[in-house]
Amino acid sequence: MNELDHDKLLESIARLTEKRNRLSLEICLTQTMFDLLGVEVIALYRFDGEQVNLLVRIDPESCWIWDSEVDEPEAAVPVIQDTGLRACLHGREMVIESVAEGRRYTFPIPRREQLIGFLRLVSARDLRDDRRLIEGFLQIYWNYLKLIEDNERDKLTGLLNRKTFDDKLMDILQASRRAALARAKARRAEDKKGAERREGDDGSYYWLAVLDIDHFKRINDTYGHLYGDEVLILLANIMRRSFRRSDLLFRYGGEEFVVVFRTRALEDAATVLERFRHNVEHYRFPQVGQVTASAGYTQILTSEMTMVVVARADKALYYAKDNGRNQIRCYETLIDAGAMAKPEGNFGDVELF
Ligand code: GH3
Ligand code: MG
Ligand code: MG
Repeated sequence: MNELDHDKLLESIARLTEKRNRLSLEICLTQTMFDLLGVEVIALYRFDGEQVNLLVRIDPESCWIWDSEVDEPEAAVPVIQDTGLRACLHGREMVIESVAEGRRYTFPIPRREQLIGFLRLVSARDLRDDRRLIEGFLQIYWNYLKLIEDNERDKLTGLLNRKTFDDKLMDILQASRRAALARAKARRAEDKKGAERREGDDGSYYWLAVLDIDHFKRINDTYGHLYGDEVLILLANIMRRSFRRSDLLFRYGGEEFVVVFRTRALEDAATVLERFRHNVEHYRFPQVGQVTASAGYTQILTSEMTMVVVARADKALYYAKDNGRNQIRCYETLIDAGAMAKPEGNFGDVELF
């Protein structure tokens, strides 16, 4: 690419550095490189140490995008079956292979000692002279990725911070809408066939839980703030162990956390949260000993404001606090059981698909 237009290159870099979230950065990177290099296929993969996920793939006919935050990890690519990825993983260097369309290039995306992904290009044209340009783009990509990730995370615990909560939840609400529509469609098809309904088999349920450490003030008062902070860090670790990698974990306030997760069946939500509660109760915190936590949770419905969802989970949390702590409570179950007053209007009464 000798006659590369410098203005075009600068514009591309400017566009790339405008991005403020991971997905739009990844789409912009692949699209920009696809246009600049004039290749047949470009694909960006993420590697998390165990599995490789295809994030964005562009060819002249189509564009495929996987949103890692809301989509299931079904796009995982077994490294072992892909010779280019495997060689790149071991050699940590550009790998070139011959394919029907020309050559297939696999570039590693390293960050310090760690490998965080791969870039795949298929091109009829020889790309070896463009290697520095490609690697330069990948460098910009991971610099920005780091910046975006640092901005999204709470410094103490490393969990997602409050600032990103609304954006992430909005994405989840969209995905929940899609799942509800798929469920409704499948249900209609089943009704036609006269088959028995199997709620949730063809979709997912989305949940939001507010988790709060019990008597945290006492921990601070008895052992001091530093020990309090350590409890927060260790609790965040228990959260990471108790929930799935694809669940969204937030530090919502001082000693309050929010988890947004999805389940295949309605009853799984209680199991997931109970596992977390149990893990906290049985962990021995240095110096402090036993710590417990309470949680309130609610189903995320398809057309509501994020604050309404949080308010429902909060009500269930208050109930747990008022009724002995160290327990999890479901808003909908409490309402159905008559343990809490049903609110006026459509606050707790939004139609479920
Ligand atoms: P409850 O069981 O009802 O939740 O009681 P609690 O004591 O946990 O709740 P309360 O809201 O009374 O106290 C929360 C405490 O959390 C008060 C505040 O000083 C402490 N806190 C908030 N943020 C931090 C932090 O970042 N580090 C530390 N060490 N403490 C914090
Ligand atoms: Mg508390
Ligand atoms: Mg609190």
